[in-house]
Amino acid sequence: MISQPPPTERSAKTVLVVEDEPTLASTLSYNLRKNGFNVVSEADGVAGLNAARRDVPDMIVLDLMLPKMDGLEVCRRIRAESDVPILILTAKSEEMDKVVGLEIGADDYLTKPFSMRELIARVKALLRRSAARAEESGVAKIVAGQLELDARGRVVLRGGAEVLLKPKEFDLLFFLAKNAGQVFTRDQILEQVWGYDFFGGNRTVDVHMRWLREKLEDTPGRPKQLLTVRGVGYKFVR
Ligand code: CA
Repeated sequence: MISQPPPTERSAKTVLVVEDEPTLASTLSYNLRKNGFNVVSEADGVAGLNAARRDVPDMIVLDLMLPKMDGLEVCRRIRAESDVPILILTAKSEEMDKVVGLEIGADDYLTKPFSMRELIARVKALLRRSAARAEESGVAKIVAGQLELDARGRVVLRGGAEVLLKPKEFDLLFFLAKNAGQVFTRDQILEQVWGYDFFGGNRTVDVHMRWLREKLEDTPGRPKQLLTVRGVGYKFVR
């Protein structure tokens, strides 16, 4: 196993390479470093999964046939926790078709043998795509009806006047407004706004929705933007 310490330079992107063939692993590392990437290299599935959690790489190059835990399982587990781009390496084209790769949540795949130029091109393309995705989700300002939300300053204006919200009220409002038109269940809202470690229960969402309506709706009992979708959950409409 070739292990590198976590990167200290923030500007360089970190690529986790999980490959058990020593020659290919070192060729991959060498070429990625030559192209300006930090590289963390692991030679089995379990160590790869641990590195994905520990080092939080910007992308992962993952071999399919690995000792201890195969690449499909590693991919599934990483995908359950993160959106990090994953490029799968397969030994033979018939070993795994594209469909299977995409089903387990991989972003792209390469069939061995491949050229290092091809690999670097794919890595760069995936990183570009994920940067674009991050920018899209990093919405800073939302204007909807008489509401104006500023994520950076955490300020809400209603008809131009500031409305004071508690932190979770703001998070809930911003989450729903950012995904305007989309219905979310209470569980989904809890997970997204309060996080996995929250045990307060579904009532918490209802209570916060009531508070938001009281502060933001003309007639809280007949809301126009913070809507209940009967039997499902809540949605925000612009
Ligand atoms: Ca292998």
